[in-house]
Amino acid sequence: MTALTRRRSDDEHQETWHIYFGDVRVGTIGVRAGIPTSADQWGWSIGFYPGMEPGAQRSGSAAKFDEARAAFENAWRELESTLNEDNFEAWRRSRDFHAWKNRMWAEHCRMPTQNENGWSKCFCGEPIPVACEAHIHTVHRGIGA
Ligand SMILES: [Zn+2]
Repeated sequence: MTALTRRRSDDEHQETWHIYFGDVRVGTIGVRAGIPTSADQWGWSIGFYPGMEPGAQRSGSAAKFDEARAAFENAWRELESTLNEDNFEAWRRSRDFHAWKNRMWAEHCRMPTQNENGWSKCFCGEPIPVACEAHIHTVHRGIGA
């Protein structure tokens, strides 16, 4: 059974934890900004896109981190049974595509859509057509992990 893990976000001004299910970022738990001190200081939310229907997202608030974490875990347990590998794979493919595209830009490579003949060269040297998803998701699988 895959466990939930958390990684602190880079934001130094506000404590936010990204929650991962395996390698998929499924939600966050963090200090809520701009709310009165009498209100719940922690918020949590579950949802990832693509892969989950927008209406399926869950969220809540709690006074303490541990309470927010417990509420998150309860909600996740319910939600997890409605998800399958295709949901997680959709998110991974999107993550990898965006990382690949950023690397293409960083290395000044043209996208196939920018060339009249619909072909270009990947930063790895491979010729790629407009429909280059297969190349990205095989040769560069995990590039955004
Ligand atoms: Zn490549």
